[in-house]
Amino acid sequence: MIENYFSAEDVSEFRIWLNYADRFVVISHMSPDGDAIGSSLALCRYLKSLGKEAVALVPDTPPDFIRWLPGIDELMIYDSDPDAAERVIYQADVVCCLDFNVVKRIDKVAASFLYTKAKKILIDHHPYPGATFNVILSYPEASSTAELVFHFICALGGFSHIDYDIAECLYTGMMTDTGAFTYNSNNSCLFNVISLLLETGIDKDRIYSRVYNTFSESRLRLQGYVLSEKMQIFYDMSTALITLTSKEMLRFNAKKGDTEGFVNMPLQIEGIMLSVFIREEKDQIRLSFRSSGNVPCNILASDWFHGGGHTNASGAEIKCSMEEAVARFHEAMKSWEKSDKDNIRQLFKK
Ligand code: MN
Repeated sequence: MIENYFSAEDVSEFRIWLNYADRFVVISHMSPDGDAIGSSLALCRYLKSLGKEAVALVPDTPPDFIRWLPGIDELMIYDSDPDAAERVIYQADVVCCLDFNVVKRIDKVAASFLYTKAKKILIDHHPYPGATFNVILSYPEASSTAELVFHFICALGGFSHIDYDIAECLYTGMMTDTGAFTYNSNNSCLFNVISLLLETGIDKDRIYSRVYNTFSESRLRLQGYVLSEKMQIFYDMSTALITLTSKEMLRFNAKKGDTEGFVNMPLQIEGIMLSVFIREEKDQIRLSFRSSGNVPCNILASDWFHGGGHTNASGAEIKCSMEEAVARFHEAMKSWEKSDKDNIRQLFKK
């Protein structure tokens, strides 16, 4: 076996819960991604293999590119039936919280989550977990929550329960949270996990294709437009900015999710270490931040846009106009350029 993130002691309380608890809910964050859904479905399937009732619940609809994951048909979406979702949370003995650090991230599910008397465990890789959980298993150095769920199951002695379906879910979570193992994945242990998952017979090349080769024609055309017309490069700050209005989205007939990955593209330019993507949504502005090396895009997200996340991948939502958001971005850049205090400019050196 491989080195485990969790000791027997880390999972001892959950083990006690397993002795008496029957009903489990696995909750993940709003705008769920491959890691949120993959890790949730995997843990649910494991709990079911122990004879437990287990439901995976997310605030809103997952993106189409993971709609093939085993068990996704049983996924409960709060938006589709809030009453049923709340009932499940109130009746649960244990709530497992995956891939988020603070309650704000589960949006409309938060009220019933805070109210339920169920035991709560957090398994997550975002820094600074909140205090609303009985057990916190937080490992910011992990590639993904899916990787942590693998270790969690193994620490409970459940390695033999990891079947083809669980392996597909876990692999998808790890792959999507690391850009197909191109960042946040310099850990030999992660590849040992992958090696064990492959032994269940999963086809990683097919998983890649099912997740990434799923663009619509309009998405690809929007991508061309964004790169040619909407990307600004600030070489003195090693930074790129892309903005996109709802009007432009409409012109390209773009759906939610069609802008996924745009923020990563400018990092392909030599010398660019920070990329910011600002887009207009129905009643707010959404910002995505990506960086390479030690450039802390989460500080830009939190100090200037009330957002947060990882060093190399963060996000924020604010209520303001596109012009205001762009102005704030320029202000932030100016301040970073001047500030010796945090030595942020130093971090832009590769
Ligand atoms: Mn994640």
